Amino acid sequence: MTATIPSLLQPMKDRLAKLRTSPTDQAKLIAAIEAVVALHKPGGGYFASDVACHYCSNSIGYVLYPCSTVAALVQALGGDTA
Ligand SMILES: [Zn+2]
Repeated sequence: MTATIPSLLQPMKDRLAKLRTSPTDQAKLIAAIEAVVALHKPGGGYFASDVACHYCSNSIGYVLYPCSTVAALVQALGGDTA
């Protein structure tokens, strides 16, 4: 995966900041995506490994990062999901 969600969001945030319509709604949408991204980050958690998703992994097992949630966000934002 070459594109990160923050790098995909920033151009959209820049373009949205120039619009005058519904700035509150736009900010809420961006904040919602950023809140999900803050949960689904590499490392930490039970396994403390950078290859595991912090949120999706638990004491039963780990989920590789990027997890399916991050992959879906990157794809929806038009980034590379390879
Ligand atoms: Zn995850």
